[in-house]
Amino acid sequence: MQTEQPPLEAASPFELRVNLGKEVPEADVRSALASGDMGFLHSFTTGSTVDGPGVRLVAWTTGCHFRCLYCHNPDTWVLTNGVPVTLAKATEQLRKYRNGLRLMGGGFTLSGGEPLMQDRFAVKVLSAARNMGIHTALDTNGSLGERLSDTELENIDLVLLDIKSWNPERHRHLTSAAIEPVLNFASRLAAQRRPVWLRFVLVPGLSDNAEDIESLATFAGELGNVQRVDILPFHQMGRFKWTRLQLSYSLNDVVPPSPELVERVRQQFLDKGLQAY
Ligand code: SF4
Repeated sequence: MQTEQPPLEAASPFELRVNLGKEVPEADVRSALASGDMGFLHSFTTGSTVDGPGVRLVAWTTGCHFRCLYCHNPDTWVLTNGVPVTLAKATEQLRKYRNGLRLMGGGFTLSGGEPLMQDRFAVKVLSAARNMGIHTALDTNGSLGERLSDTELENIDLVLLDIKSWNPERHRHLTSAAIEPVLNFASRLAAQRRPVWLRFVLVPGLSDNAEDIESLATFAGELGNVQRVDILPFHQMGRFKWTRLQLSYSLNDVVPPSPELVERVRQQFLDKGLQAY
């Protein structure tokens, strides 16, 4: 296992990172989670054009309670795999990129892992970005949305909401978690008229059921706040992490969806009046 601390900035989230916060005493981890004055981050990456509008600075948090079969970054599951980063240090990073992000019509995205595992840090770092005039986005699986107050939600410019499946059993099979909290959060965001981009990972044989997608597209279309849908074709780029972490990977034989399948799914969302890509 790697123990030497790499730079906070990474070329991509596909760098394998483990044990970077393991020296932090448990009491300090608890205190960080309660206060949000320190977070645990896999890394920062720059130049993303797929995690919100424009060119983005992305902070990848560690800690996730889902166990998605296709997860590309299982090293982010464990909180203390991440680098302990003070809020001040994270803010300094934001300041460094502020002007460039503004010029490129981009912003800051907090992704993971599941950022709301560290909800107090998420609130503070997103507020810091917003106070600098940076557009903010939260990329979340949605199941911990209740941790954010209505006011805190209003301070986030965009939620990138990942919905993994419409069908409760298939959702549980795919993620090991329940779908209901995710859908409740989606409805709450709609009631508050918060802008949402829906993200849907398309995995042949696992999330491509036409009826499920029809129901999900109907739901998303009726919410009224979904500005676009991103269909993310499954790929195998994260497989090496499962191997290196000695995790059992069940998708070795799954191939990326064909262009025809992607187009069929895209059309299902388009048919409900949504922008889909
Ligand atoms: S929610 Fe995201 S980080 Fe968590 S297991 Fe699923 S794909 Fe991985």
